[in-house]
Amino acid sequence: MVVTAPLEIITPPKRYKPLARCIYCNRQASKFSDEHIIAYGLAGNSLVLPRSSCPKCSDATKRFENTCLRHMWWPFRTRLGTPSRSDPPETFRLRKMRVTNKNADGTISYEKMGVDELPSNEYPLSYVAYKFPPPAILVDRDPEADVNYEIFGKISKDEFRKHTPNNKDGFWVAPSNPNAFLRLLAKIAHAYATAELGQGIMRPILTDFIRGHSLRALEWIGADQIGPISSDVLHEIGWEIVTVKNVNYVVVDLRLFSFLGTPKYQIVVGELIDPIKAALSNKRTPYKIEVKAFFLGELSPFVGESIRVSGGSLN
Ligand SMILES: [Zn+2]
Repeated sequence: MVVTAPLEIITPPKRYKPLARCIYCNRQASKFSDEHIIAYGLAGNSLVLPRSSCPKCSDATKRFENTCLRHMWWPFRTRLGTPSRSDPPETFRLRKMRVTNKNADGTISYEKMGVDELPSNEYPLSYVAYKFPPPAILVDRDPEADVNYEIFGKISKDEFRKHTPNNKDGFWVAPSNPNAFLRLLAKIAHAYATAELGQGIMRPILTDFIRGHSLRALEWIGADQIGPISSDVLHEIGWEIVTVKNVNYVVVDLRLFSFLGTPKYQIVVGELIDPIKAALSNKRTPYKIEVKAFFLGELSPFVGESIRVSGGSLN
């Protein structure tokens, strides 16, 4: 067991000025809650926008944040020791999968072998997310064209092998929920851009999607590249203005768990209304949330399944 918990965030918390309206529905409410731009369970109080989410929108964002933090990443967060308001369960269910075929089109076939109930601190170290193509709007791709995206993962092979000693392909960690994950990215990016630029500066693109409506999300949300690994950076976030066909878009660049060499997501959050802001818009240095050095052990890339999205529509 190599991870020391809890993770210690050393970048001081940043608290923005409070806003008068909900950043998602633009309504005024009698009761607002503080918004953790990156959820508390991922970054503690690192970036907080006070009084900026109404009760209804809070419920909507909590739903997909829970899917990501309490399902997809709970074992990983537990091992890493990210902030948490509640204790992890005593056990996690580990789904055992066996790879049966690596198909010519890049997809992988697998079968379920069963489920193990493991003490939560013995769950094999694994991180799963997604590598999307770049947002269609930024690369002039037909938003209705078929595209592929992939699972991005890192696992401790040694820890997984204990549970499948005779299976050379190891485990297949079932993909979780790309729709919830896209909403998580959209929410972080929208809240960050609003905190940085203020309300009324841009015409938002993702707020209905964040509140649960459907959207052809890969038109606006994607990944640019896999970044270099730097050991002490937990998350990185920045914004820039990108002009496409004479429209100035506010684009947020986001890397979660940067130390794993994760994809850098690009999220197009709005159209800039105020042209003066565009003139000021040189690319910013990303804001980094750093942690005290820790040792995670050796992690291997996880062979991802290539997933076809017909008509470019994931939602
Ligand atoms: Zn609201």
